[in-house]
Amino acid sequence: MREVNVKFEEINYSWNPITGCLHMCSYCWARKFAKRLASMGVEPYKTHGFSPALAEWRLRQRIPNGRFIFVCVAGETLIDTINGPSEVKDVGVGDVILGLHGGFITPSTVIAKTVVETEVAYRIVTDSTEIICSPTHRMLTLRGYVAAKDLKVGDGVCVRLNKQRKNDKGDCESRLRCRDIKLGWERVREVEVEGSGEVLYDLTTTTHNYISNGIVSHNCDMSDMWGDWIPVEWIDKVLRVVRLKPRSKFFFLTKNPKRYLEFEDKFSGNVVLGVTLETNRDYKLTRAPPPRERYEAMVRLNWRWKAVVIEPILDFDEEFIDWIYNISPEIVYVGYDNYGNRLPEPKLEKTRILLEALEGITALRPKTIRKAWYEE
Ligand code: SF4
Repeated sequence: MREVNVKFEEINYSWNPITGCLHMCSYCWARKFAKRLASMGVEPYKTHGFSPALAEWRLRQRIPNGRFIFVCVAGETLIDTINGPSEVKDVGVGDVILGLHGGFITPSTVIAKTVVETEVAYRIVTDSTEIICSPTHRMLTLRGYVAAKDLKVGDGVCVRLNKQRKNDKGDCESRLRCRDIKLGWERVREVEVEGSGEVLYDLTTTTHNYISNGIVSHNCDMSDMWGDWIPVEWIDKVLRVVRLKPRSKFFFLTKNPKRYLEFEDKFSGNVVLGVTLETNRDYKLTRAPPPRERYEAMVRLNWRWKAVVIEPILDFDEEFIDWIYNISPEIVYVGYDNYGNRLPEPKLEKTRILLEALEGITALRPKTIRKAWYEE
């Protein structure tokens, strides 16, 4: 396996100066979410819906060192760690917290932490606890992992039944060992949308989940600023900001990587260029360029920092592995669909073969890996 640049791993933040997308992927949740934000009066969605827009004010946004987008829980949320509860703002990369694997609570290492100011937050209340989180924060429910924005009153969510508490001095009063922790189901009593400006966090862990305010939650996971419809001037404005922030690293992701080729001489060394490549086959689930076109553009792209995102993974042929090899990415993310879209996805066994093959040629970051929906 290739050694991953440590800085690559540490950088994490969210920045969406360009919103909206015209690729029309059948499995796009961002389009539905933009509609909801528009109905709540949130800009730029209120004015532009999911049509492309440049949010000029975000070009002036404060940008700390950062890489990945995807928000989640508020800073005071308590995370179960092996040393008792700790506020999420105090949990860092390398800390060992508690996660869920194979139905059992197990130690889980934090491998990334993301922070972002979000325009809307959700407050989810159950019988014994509540959590403030981003719309995309996924909790384990009787329907599988469900995003806060899709939760309904009455849904059963998985919670820790026995408590870990801190006293006034901040010491843990009742530290629980993994095997002592009891999980159960509680009904959602309230789902409320709260105002803007909340600082939220997400953790990425080795088990892909964690316990936040007693609720079993999943790592979290919105636009294509490289679509053919985006004016050159908009991209130039964004890249100018990127060049002015040499101490930050910027991760771009697109289904139209040939657009990268237009800007090759404008990229600074703090840029990672990613492509979403769900398969090598053309399933026609999107109006984005077909996989082969994306692949060929990424091969032509002469850039040190490349990434491939195979998510949501779709069934593929053997040559797909050669494609990834030829693109020569620094890092590859692989994950199944999280939104119950019943896509033409590969069987788990086939995905495992892909993962094994990729392990030898790149740094691999598996996300939701599960049986195909038709294997259940
Ligand atoms: S590329 Fe992403 S944002 Fe655009 S339609 Fe597809 S899933 Fe939605």
